[in-house]
This record gives sequence, C-alpha cells and structure tokens, in this order.
Amino acid sequence: MAETDDSKGFCVRLLEEAKLGVTLGRLEVLSVLRDADAPLVITEIHHRVLNRGVSFSLASVYNSVAKLQAAGVVDGRVFDGHKKVYALAGTMCQNRLTCVQCGRTELVDDPEIASVHQKAASRLGFTLDNYTLSMSGVCQHCRSKSRLRK
Ligand SMILES: [Zn+2]
Repeated sequence: MAETDDSKGFCVRLLEEAKLGVTLGRLEVLSVLRDADAPLVITEIHHRVLNRGVSFSLASVYNSVAKLQAAGVVDGRVFDGHKKVYALAGTMCQNRLTCVQCGRTELVDDPEIASVHQKAASRLGFTLDNYTLSMSGVCQHCRSKSRLRK
C-alpha cells in the first residue's frame, strides 16, 4: 500500500481544518482510516500503522484517535454491543432500522454493509463520502405483542 502525496495532503488538510497539530501519529491514524473500507477497532488501526513501518505503541494510537475524535475528525461508534469502531467523520454508516409499529430505531453498524457500499461506489468510479441506508421492519417486542393478541 504505497502512500501517495495526495493521501498525505488530504490528511494534513483535515488536521489543519480541525486546528490540530500535524503529528506523525495523527497523520498515520488518519491515513489508515482513509484507506480502510470499513470502520476499524483500535487494535486493527494499531496493526495497520505498524504494517506501514511506523513504530507506535497501542497507547499512542489510542491517544491520537481520542484527540482526533474530540476534534470531530474521527467518529467512534459502539458496534456489536461492545466493540468500539472508528472511521473518518462523515464516513461512518448511518444505517437505521425502524420498527413500523412502535417507531423504535436502531443504528445498524455493520462493517460488512459498509464494505458493500464502498465496493459498489468504487465499481462506479466513485469514492464514498457518505451513505444512509434506511430499513424498516417489526421489532421483537412488537412481534411478541401481536403473537399474544392472536
Ligand atoms: Zn416495535
């Protein structure tokens, strides 16, 4: 994975816009997230930073991500109830699943869905900035209520 000047320029601009100092750690984290085709857990970000030949501790990566998130450059979400995943701000999926009976809405953060969106966009020659998927159905609670009525 060759790092182009373009990618570096993009990441430097993001940091400048957020009025954050340009440090190697922040640049690497941003660059990894930019190249990722789905939101990543912190250990995966660390792994990919190391794979670029940059020697950073997990704690440094964690600090960089925390700073980037506080500045609004990176979004963090809890996925699967316990895993925290990160992506560039605005690229995190906004997939909603809404119950047509009670209106309860859940966010569906599934890296597989994100990956499908990225692939579909790149097949058409697009880079993906954002997407929203809206799904509806009947939640478990409403399903069990209607079973009781029958
Ligand atoms: Zn419901």
